[in-house]
Parts: sequence; structure tokens; C-alpha cells
Amino acid sequence: MRPETIALRAGYKPQNGEPHTMPIYQSTTFEYTSSQHIGQLFDDPTMGYIYSRFANPTASYVEEKIAALEGGAGAMLTSSGQAATMVAVTNICSAGDHFVSAASIYGGTVNLFAVTLKRFGIDCTFVDQDASEEEIQRAIKPNTKLIFGETIANPAISVLDIEKFARIAHQNNLPLFVDNTFAPTLCRPFEWGADIIIHSTTKYMDGHAVLVGGVIVDGGTFDWSNGMFPCFTEPDESYHGIIYHQQYGKLAFLIKARMQMMRDLGAFQSAQNAFLLDLGLQTLPLRMERHCKNAAQVAELLDVHDKVESVRYPTLKGSPYRDLAQKYLPSGCSGVISFTLKGGRDAAVRFIDSLKLASNVVHVADIRTLVLHPASSTHRQLTDEQLEAAGITPGLIRLSVGCEHIDDIIEDVTQALGAV
Ligand code: PLP
Repeated sequence: MRPETIALRAGYKPQNGEPHTMPIYQSTTFEYTSSQHIGQLFDDPTMGYIYSRFANPTASYVEEKIAALEGGAGAMLTSSGQAATMVAVTNICSAGDHFVSAASIYGGTVNLFAVTLKRFGIDCTFVDQDASEEEIQRAIKPNTKLIFGETIANPAISVLDIEKFARIAHQNNLPLFVDNTFAPTLCRPFEWGADIIIHSTTKYMDGHAVLVGGVIVDGGTFDWSNGMFPCFTEPDESYHGIIYHQQYGKLAFLIKARMQMMRDLGAFQSAQNAFLLDLGLQTLPLRMERHCKNAAQVAELLDVHDKVESVRYPTLKGSPYRDLAQKYLPSGCSGVISFTLKGGRDAAVRFIDSLKLASNVVHVADIRTLVLHPASSTHRQLTDEQLEAAGITPGLIRLSVGCEHIDDIIEDVTQALGAV
């Protein structure tokens, strides 16, 4: 099925006489007629529902839909995008391990990798995603467990060369994790060699700013028995000696993430939020089409405006990411544009405060047009060096172009530029 059909038809499929709309299973727990049955579920929790801290029928329907949209073997919802990244990385990294990440990623993820995971004894080396394969290879150490990047980086708007990163990862027997938050339905990273996909479902997947959530999608193709990951090939003492790879094969990563990590960390998505997420997913491909079309027009306008110093949007003629965008994002590059005005930080603040239609909020990838000044908000905690590595200047403005009529968006942007 095509994305528009998957978005509407995958996941919940009512049987004869059942509700047309997916029910919300608002229950922490599930009833069984015998202790023996519950005991069997503890032997293999994939055989039924036990407790909504790690699995719930409403969440399962949505997980199935997202796995289908990404072309993965399975998915697990999480309480936030941050939780998805945390659970995915720590599913295979322990104290003493190391991983490599593109430097040009979301500021919260930089913080998680550089500060919090470091406190847990997990080290991350950040690399320039546009560096040569040889240079990126030099960051890999004997204890490296994975490579991480964002399809379209927030807010640098750089496009990841997924095939290049997958090649480096696989040559070293490592998986590639891709945060595809900005490009759902526009890019399917598994088709280019990614092994695990992460989304903040708070963004385009929900699209209406009503829920915080995340998801981990497993491509089901990585060989976790390649000798680098004893956590899949040796018994898990916390689960009566289960050997994930032996018991669950291609779904070993996802099932360990649910049975072990989610059981212990408890950062699962609620049934209510999963229901709301499903509403958003139903129109995701339609919205993405409009976001891309509107943003491309706004980017063209900004690109030639005399008050604008520079614009980052991959479809623009001068963009260094135009070729990568044509390869990985042929139907569009999302609604997010980053640009800098002549006059730096002060001009940015005047522009943002003059917008009448666009909302000044700490959010991105919403159906409504939003604007944000990353250096004083989402990336405030980063040092100047980290800001530079993440591709952020003090005057950078992030405009998340929504699905309003393009003429209204252009009128608003034009009048605000006039006020600078
Ligand atoms: N990944 C990207 C690319 C993001 O933009 C964000 C949030 O902005 C996150 C992850 C974190 O997601 P959440 O806010 O749902 O925790």
C-alpha cells in the first residue's frame, strides 16, 4: 500500500460489528482466568498483554501503523522523542561503551549524548556529517556500538547522507540509528541502509501540538549475533536467562527494548496519547505534501529578499544539500526553514516579534506556522562551539511552515521583514 493508504488503513482493523474507530484501551492491566496463563506470559510477554507500562492494545495498533509507514519489522511507542533516543541507545550501550553521532542534530539530543549519557559512562564522539568516510571512520573505536544521525537536522537543515553513514556503520559491524522526525513519509531510511529509526512523534506525526511522544522502529535486518553485541547472544539474568537473538531473531532489538528497557525505565506512551497520535497519522502524508509545497515557496521568497543574509532549505539552488535532498527527499524537504537576517540577533528578534500569523512557540513541525529563535531557547544550553557544530548562529531563525494558505503565510513573512 502507498503511504496515504497505510496512514488510514494500517494498524486497527475492525472485525464484524466492532467500532469503526480504534478504541482507547484505557486500562493499566489485563485480566486472565488462571495464574498459569499469567505465568506463561511472564515467560514470553510477546504472547499477550500484561501491563501498560510496556505494551497496550491501542499502542500496538499505532506501532503497527508506524512500522508499516517506515517499512520496518516492528515498532515501540515511547513517552517522548527523548525517551525513544534514550531507550534505543541504552538498549545496546552500557557504561564503558562508545558511539558516534553526527554533530548537526537536535540540541536536546546533543545534551543527552554529551552530558547525561556521559554521566552514565557512555561516551559519544560527534563528527561532521559532511566529512569524508575516512574521517568519520577515524572516530570509531573498539568499544563503539552504533552510529547516529538525523535525516534532516534540527535546526541546521542539513541532509544526512544515509547511505554513506550506513556503509561506515556496516563495515564496522555496527547499526545505524536515524532520527527521522523531520521527514516522515518523505524519506524511508531503512531503504537506504538504516537499521533503527527514531521519531519524536510530538512533531509531524501528531502534527497538531496535542501530545508529547516518540517511537522506535526496528528494520529487523541487522545481525545482532555478529559478535559485537553479547546483550543479544548471552542470557539476560533479569529475564530468567532469555537469549534475545535466539528467541526473537530479527526482532531481538525491539523485544529487548520493550521487555527489558521499557519494563525497567517505564517511558511508554499512554493509550490516550497513542489514540491522538493515530488521528494525526491519518493525515500525515497529506500534511507533509502541503508543508513541503508551502515551505519551498517561502524559502524562495526569503532567498532573494534584500534583508536576508542566508537561507537553509535543501531545495534551494544554492543549497549544499540539494543533491542529497534530490536523492533522499525527492517529494520535498518538510516545512522547516532556517534563515539569518542581516543584522543578526537583534533583527531576528524584531522579525519574530512582528509576525502576526506565525506562532512564537517552542515547537516545530506543527500544522500551523511556527517561529523560534534556537540560540535563546532550544539550544540555549549549548556552548558557542557546540552551537557552531550544530550549525546555529546567534541570529538564526527557525520557521516551521504550516498548512495555512500560502498567500497568508507569505503576507505575514513579508510584513514582518518590512518591520525589521
Ligand atoms: N528529535 C528531534 C529531531 C527533535 O526535533 C526533537 C524535539 O524537538 C526530539 C528528537 C525530542 O523529541 P521530544 O520533544 O518529543 O522529546
